[in-house]
Amino acid sequence: MIMMSVRDNLQKQINESIKQLDFLVKQTKLPIIQDKSGNPLWIDVRELDLRYQMPIKKVQKFFNGLKEGKILTTRCQKCGTIYFPPQDDCPQCKLSGLEWIELPREGKLITYTKIYVKPPSFSHYQDYVVGIAKLDNGINITAWVVGNLEKLNVGADVKLEVEEREPEGYITYYLKIE
Ligand SMILES: [Zn+2]
Repeated sequence: MIMMSVRDNLQKQINESIKQLDFLVKQTKLPIIQDKSGNPLWIDVRELDLRYQMPIKKVQKFFNGLKEGKILTTRCQKCGTIYFPPQDDCPQCKLSGLEWIELPREGKLITYTKIYVKPPSFSHYQDYVVGIAKLDNGINITAWVVGNLEKLNVGADVKLEVEEREPEGYITYYLKIE
C-alpha cells in the first residue's frame, strides 16, 4: 500500500505541475521554468506514450495457464519457496528450472485501497480497488478487488478468478468477493 500512496502522491504532483505549466505557457508562450538554482529549465509539454516489452519465455506457462483459467506459479523443488509472480530461478538455492504448481483460489483480504487518482495509463478505468490477499498456501497476491464491494473489508473472503479485463480484452486475474 505504500507503493500505492507513493504513486498516487506522485501522480497528484505531476497533475499539479502540468496545470502550472499550462498556465506558464499561456503567460510566457514558452514552457521554461527556473530550477532550484534559478537556471532556466525547458519542460516539454508533450506526453510520452511508453510501451515496454519484457521477455517471458521462461514464464510462458503462466500465460498459457491463464488461457485455461488457471493461475500457475513456480516453486523451488529444493527449498520449497513458492514465487509469485512466477520466476524460473531460486536466488537462495541458485537453482533454475523451478517446478510449476497451481495456486489455490481461496484467500482472505489483508489490505486494500481504493484508487481515485489514477496514473495516466489507468485513467480510462472507473475508480477501482486494489488489494492484497493471503491465499490458503500463505502466498500474498496483489490484484484488483471486484465483486460484492459492500463486503469489502480486511479479512473478507476472496476468490482468485481469471477473467478478461475490459476494454483491453486481455485475460488477467482478480480477487473476487462473492
Ligand atoms: Zn530454493
